[in-house]
Amino acid sequence: MPHGWDTLFTRLSSIDSRPRAPYSKAMTELIAHSDAYVKEFMARVTAVNREEGAIALDRTAFYPGGGGQPHDLGWLKDTPVLKVKRQWDEIWHRLDGSIPAGGEEVSGKLDWDRRYKLMRTHTAFHILCGVVWRDYRAQVTGGNLDLLKGRMDFEFETLRQELVREIEEKLNQEVAAARPVQVEVLPRAEAFKIPDLIRTKINLLPKNIKEVRIVEIVGLDLQADGGTHVANTSEVGLIRVSGYKSKGRINKRIQLEIEL
Ligand SMILES: [Zn+2]
Repeated sequence: MPHGWDTLFTRLSSIDSRPRAPYSKAMTELIAHSDAYVKEFMARVTAVNREEGAIALDRTAFYPGGGGQPHDLGWLKDTPVLKVKRQWDEIWHRLDGSIPAGGEEVSGKLDWDRRYKLMRTHTAFHILCGVVWRDYRAQVTGGNLDLLKGRMDFEFETLRQELVREIEEKLNQEVAAARPVQVEVLPRAEAFKIPDLIRTKINLLPKNIKEVRIVEIVGLDLQADGGTHVANTSEVGLIRVSGYKSKGRINKRIQLEIEL
């Protein structure tokens, strides 16, 4: 389903197949891109930055943030991970404690309670995008999410209080419908043939991006996306529209909360 430029841009910029730095030697495999349910993993340290207390790994289950979704927290070798960020093709983990040596094998463990809440919240916003486009033809212009809450902005001139309850009801119908959420990585040329993605201005993707990660809530929403999602809308739980704001005649903000 179509979404606004800004949202699309931030989402695309978090996709693994973004352009490589010419001097980059290492690349971190982002485990969450193929399996968002991996909670523990083993990896090798590929680079160390002692000043920042950070290490890069050959593979990681930690999501580095992007597309409005915060980065993960957890532990590497039982040392708390304070921050995770992407630097070109490498994922860096800032640690609160002793720093492993380059080449060392380390165990990783996510703060799964936090990550799973973020997956549920993220998926709730896909449901919102899908419903608002399907029934009101309103496009997303931006958004941000946190643990069990977040906001999304739309070009939605006709949004008013009566619609808010109606939208909330529709969101929970999609949760109850238990729609599968599927992730696929497609070659650029194939992704370009999907009408829903063409309308999202996917053609603005830089030419050197060869593959596009597609996240689909079957029958409801389709997006180019780098984030983490639950596998079925039934995992999201009860969604509440906690507020809405007029940001001008056309631009409206919808806030959601997810039941614990
Ligand atoms: Zn997403």
